[in-house]
Formats: sequence, structure tokens, C-alpha cells
Amino acid sequence: MPNFSLPDAVFEQAASQFPTPFHLYDEKGIRERARALNAAFSWAPAFKEYFAVKALPNPQILKIFQEEGCGLDCSSECELLMAEKLGFRGEDIMFSANAMPPSEFDHARKLGALINLDDMSDIDTLAAHGGIPETICARFNPGGDFTLGTAIMGSPGDSKYGWTREQLVKGMKRLKEMGVKRFGLHAFLASNTTDNAYYPKLAGILFELGDALSKECSLPLSFINLSGGVGIPYRPDQKAADIAAIGAAVKEEYIRVFGQPKPGGVAIKTELGRFMTGPNGWLITHAIHEKKIYKNYLGVDACASNLMRPAMYGAYHHIHVCGKRDAAADTLYDVTGCLCENNDKFAVDRALPKVDLGDLMVIHDTGAHGWAMGYQYNGRLRSAEILYTEKGDFRMIRRAETPQDYFATLEF
Ligand SMILES: *Cc1c(COP(=O)(O)O)cnc(C)c1O
Repeated sequence: MPNFSLPDAVFEQAASQFPTPFHLYDEKGIRERARALNAAFSWAPAFKEYFAVKALPNPQILKIFQEEGCGLDCSSECELLMAEKLGFRGEDIMFSANAMPPSEFDHARKLGALINLDDMSDIDTLAAHGGIPETICARFNPGGDFTLGTAIMGSPGDSKYGWTREQLVKGMKRLKEMGVKRFGLHAFLASNTTDNAYYPKLAGILFELGDALSKECSLPLSFINLSGGVGIPYRPDQKAADIAAIGAAVKEEYIRVFGQPKPGGVAIKTELGRFMTGPNGWLITHAIHEKKIYKNYLGVDACASNLMRPAMYGAYHHIHVCGKRDAAADTLYDVTGCLCENNDKFAVDRALPKVDLGDLMVIHDTGAHGWAMGYQYNGRLRSAEILYTEKGDFRMIRRAETPQDYFATLEF
């Protein structure tokens, strides 16, 4: 079930203060998620969530995570710069990148970030750019398919990320000779899964592998990084992941492999993005156009530039019409933006209450990989971001782009 915790009055009030379209984020909801995650893993030695910056790269949101005791997972120069500017330092930053420009290693090392190497060849790159640290992390790719029960949840064998097991043995031995004193292990094997069994199964794989590698390479295992991938229920009929149950099941795997958790034991880290902010963001837009040809098309003032997931993945985002939550959904619409691109549709054949032009529409679950994936195709500009604060007021935390922004990089 998508997040219906805010009444329509909140969306209407925001839309009376700021022109649509914009993304609205709920500070209280974001803090509650961070606290629920920290509570679920409070049993684990030195637990830390590194919020995946790419999901919602806004400094005011990242500050909220900072206040909740989280670090940041960065994968680019700009994300490192943002972390640096906000005062994240050292092991509060995880730098996981792949095929990145070598200079970004220099920057990450200068900040003292934990480095998550995506490939064996990155050892030499890191040695030449910032140097080999005492603690290193490596990303594992088991190949093949990743399954839960009979369901295929992901296909690591087709994914560009990570090292093979054989490479990890060789690489860790080499890193040890180069001065590494301890290592962490990371893997991301399924994306957006609300199945409570995902993290525990991943944890079991990484715990066993970490334990075995540690023995084979005579190198202490410092931490396991479960990465992102815990999903959210985009569809009304979907069940939410239960983070408390997930934390408890990961603990069982931990005890199975390492014994009772104790201070100084193998630490647990996560890099959740979507789970943290996804349900706490909404794209607010007005119905501005309607046409009837072979289907009903409802045009809104947002477009795929503001939320690319439906166009890119055919992703479902729930939509409701303000003031009509209880009205019968008796009209089928394709809800479209204005791009000259037929996949610019927020919904296809969606049953909604009869929409009138001027109605305020709320597109759910845009708090992660929403604004962040925005682009400027067709000369359309990225929208503002508004924070609904715990105090109950609205704060613009990013202004909308203007034509000046669009032209700033051009020469005439
Ligand atoms: C994208 C990403 C995440 C976050 O993924 P979510 O699906 O948003 O949880 C975490 N770690 C890495 C390395 C990523 O690339």
C-alpha cells in the first residue's frame, strides 16, 4: 500500500504556496524510517546506514540523515562534494563506484571514506590514486540468478558489478601485502524487493563468504555491507517490507555464522535509498489538459523530466486526485506529461475518479529515484523540492530550474 499518511489538506496547502509541479517530502516520515531501521539493527555491532545519495540528493534531506546518525553512500565526484560540504568525513562516507574516473578515488581517500572496490583492477588504480587504506571493502558478484524460493529476484550473472569469488581470494591476499589490515564485503543482488527474506538470504551469503575469505586470506573481516534493495509497496495490493522482522532474521543468520553479536564483532552496514525516502515523497501536479481520441488522455503539468521511472521501467506509481479519495474510480485515463515522447505517461489505462481540469493530483512514492533521475529533454526543466517539516510548515529546499539554468552551459 502506498503511503497515505498525509491528508489532502497538506498537499493543497503546499500547492497554494508553490507553483506545481514539485516534489513534496515529509520530514517526519523520513525520520521515522531512519529510526525504525536503526532500531531493527540495534543488536548489530557498530550498525550504520549509509543513505544512498543518488536516491534523493538534496542537502537538507542528507542533513536529516546526519542527525539520525546515518552516513552517506556516494558514487560520484558531486556526491562526494555534497557529503564533504555537509561535514560528512571519514567512515561516515562509503564510496562505491564502478568504472569511475581515477581522480574520484583521490577525493574519496582525502575524505577518509570507506572505499568499496568494484573490480580487481581497482586495486592498482587506488594504489596510484590516494593509496591503499587499512580498511577496504569489495563488492561480490556470485553470478547466475539470485532466487528467493522459486522466484528469480535478480540476475547477478548479467550485472556489471562486483568481483567473482576467485578474484576476491586473490585480491584480498594482494591487498593484505599492500597494507590492508581488515576488510568488508558488499553485494546488491536484488533491487526493490519487499520480500522480508531478501536481506536475510543476502546476509547469509555474505556472512559465510566473509568468514571463509577471512580464513583463506588470514585477514580479519571488519563488516558486512548489505547495500540497498529493500523495496517499497508501489502498488495498493503490495505489502510493505517489515524492517523489524528483517533485522531480526538477519540477526539469526549472524548468530548462525558468527555466534552472538558482541562489541567489536563483525559490523553491519546498509546503504538503503528507496526504503528510506521513497514513500515519503509525492509529485504534486495539476490536471491541465484533456483529450479524447481512441483513449482518454489526461495531461498534467509534470512530465517524465520530473519522474522518469514510469517511462524508463514501466514502473507503477499510485495516483490520487485531491478531494476525490473516496469517489468511485470509474474513468480510465492515460495520465501524460508534455514531452514529445509517447512514453511520457505516469499511468496507462488507470482507473481514476472523473478528473476535472484544475484538479490537484498526487503521484505517490516519488521520494527516491524521482527528482534525482530528472533530465532536461525537450527543454523541460527540473522542478522544485519542498520539505513538509516536522513543525508543519513548507520549506523550499530546491528551487525549480529556470531558462537561465538551462542556458548557463551554452554559448551563442
Ligand atoms: C542504488 C544503490 C543503493 C540504493 O539502492 P535502493 O534500491 O535505493 O535501496 C545502494 N548501494 C549502491 C551501491 C547503489 O548503487
